[in-house]
Amino acid sequence: MQDSILIYVAGNPELYPLEYYDADTESYQGAIPALLADFAASHGYEIVYYEPGRADNRAGLAEKMQVDVISGVVSGESFENTAGTLTLFAADGDGDTAEYGLAFTSTAPESFIGELSAYAVERSTADVTAELLASSAGEPARDEYLLPVTAGLGAALCLAVCALIAVLRRGSKRRRAADLERRIDPCTGLLNQFGLERAFRETVNEGNRALYYMLCFHFELGHIERVSGPGEIPRFQRFAADVLRRRAGNGEIMARGNNGDFFVLRRDTGADAARGWALGALGEIRTYTYSGAQLSGRDASAGVYPLAAKQHDHEQILYHARQCAMAAGREDLNAKICGAEQCHICEEERELLADLEHGLEYGEFQLHIQFFVSAEDFSITGGEALSRWQHPRRGLLGPDRFIPLLEREGRIDRLDLYNLDKACAFLQRLRDLRGGNYFYISCNFSRLSFSRPELADRCREIIERYDFPRSELIIEITESGLISPNAAEQMSANLAAIRALGVQVMFDDFGMGYSTFHDLQDFPMDGLKLDKSLVDNLGTERGRVIADGIIRTGHRLGLAVLAEGVEQEWQVDELKKLHCDLLQGYLFSVPIPAGEAMERVSGPR
Ligand code: C2E
Ligand code: CA
Ligand code: CA
Repeated sequence: MQDSILIYVAGNPELYPLEYYDADTESYQGAIPALLADFAASHGYEIVYYEPGRADNRAGLAEKMQVDVISGVVSGESFENTAGTLTLFAADGDGDTAEYGLAFTSTAPESFIGELSAYAVERSTADVTAELLASSAGEPARDEYLLPVTAGLGAALCLAVCALIAVLRRGSKRRRAADLERRIDPCTGLLNQFGLERAFRETVNEGNRALYYMLCFHFELGHIERVSGPGEIPRFQRFAADVLRRRAGNGEIMARGNNGDFFVLRRDTGADAARGWALGALGEIRTYTYSGAQLSGRDASAGVYPLAAKQHDHEQILYHARQCAMAAGREDLNAKICGAEQCHICEEERELLADLEHGLEYGEFQLHIQFFVSAEDFSITGGEALSRWQHPRRGLLGPDRFIPLLEREGRIDRLDLYNLDKACAFLQRLRDLRGGNYFYISCNFSRLSFSRPELADRCREIIERYDFPRSELIIEITESGLISPNAAEQMSANLAAIRALGVQVMFDDFGMGYSTFHDLQDFPMDGLKLDKSLVDNLGTERGRVIADGIIRTGHRLGLAVLAEGVEQEWQVDELKKLHCDLLQGYLFSVPIPAGEAMERVSGPR
């Protein structure tokens, strides 16, 4: 069976008994809703009254084109953006004929208009009278709305109008239905990003743009998912949407964007005032409780982008507002106003993201290799593959300029797999040049990359294209924030699949941030990289005790331990005393281009 097509209706709360808001059932009742419900049930539509409540929001909803139908329209009333009307009831009074019915906005599917009109014609006066009596039964009569009904007249009028509409609009039915579904976010009932874009274009123009602020509310949902499971997330999002709706005054355009963030386009008296509004909403949203927990300041933040700031287009505005909200979260600022400096960073990030694919395709990413040595005799045993980006306009970029960005945008796996390919090519070439390798290459993979279901397969495809001893390839799992329990399970499966190929796995930055003893328990691995901060602390007794504990634990679990960031001789002495296996750091070698590294290690041993 085909899914029914959703039709959004803006109702008239005060047109008893034709259409009115019933506080007990929190829904619209009356002859028109009953008629629409009957029609929908028999014709494959679903009628949704948009934001039912006591207030008459029809003008605003029509203006923003958030609905397909304006209902309870009385003759003489007119709404913006409507493309035709359908009279359902008519009443004689004082010599005039008053008509009551619907107006269609230009988003209403043509098929819906046609079928509903035909349906209205078929109904007899008796049906209508019965409906009307039924819908007013039990309610005290209200004189002004007790109507003698002549349904035939309504039907005749509607036919003429609909014929006209059908001629005027020849768009494909399917496109219209899809278009409609694309506009509203089914989870929250707010606009979705597509709907927001349209409403934005209709609302903001050159004359008024300085009055508007785009607010973005960004939520890191990982904690909710970990604590209460994925089912909690839509509940939270509906809660957040209700808070925004309740706090909105007049004319806010509210939406949930493609990446789950909420956007509010608001007219305000200044950026500080808009920020104040955002803070209020944020405060209330943070009262949401899941399994006794609440979102922290870092996990719920807002960005305010004054449209006056720059002549950005709609897409850029959303991007900047979002980046600003995320920056506010990182800086623990609650809500931040997007200023010139922020915009500058965003510009660079936007440009880099846009250039990523081109850069990968045209070889702008270069592999650098930093050797690591045996702690026993300082012979080079391998090297870590590190990325550099020779950007055509911005010059040579270090990983700090693009890795965190790619991780945040969920695109880091592209680069990680690209580097894996290059590292495999390196190992094969080395084997061709000097026979048996005895040289290891470690490739960085973000935890985020490694929690993707398809990752192990993608790695296998790449690795199998090359010929080299598999154990000479090491995957280093780097930090990129916490991942959810589901993702951790996936990561575990990926690690097992990778190790089954004979490839080794090491945990990077061990002892710092997120990687913990838990990981030793949960994930299969072959080695640990002792974080630079621990190496820096080897001068203190406490630092030595901690490093000693980690190295011993690693060894007892059969893991190799590599210390990174080794810059001083005394650190080497300490690490040797603690029986660390491998050393890496500026004391031995800085990262050098892969070609140079190849020359260094391909000579006769
Ligand atoms: P990392 O994996 O911890 O890599 C080691 C970083 O420390 C490298 O910086 C290296 O140049 C630097 N380093 C090495 N020895 C020393 C030392 O003795 N003293 C100091 N102060 N620093 C030292 P780099 O190349 O800038 O890389 C930064 C981070 O970017 C890496 O940290 C890694 O997490 C990430 N990264 C680099 N390439 C990739 C990649 O292709 N994929 C992913 N996912 N991450 C990458
Ligand atoms: Ca690393
Ligand atoms: Ca590291």
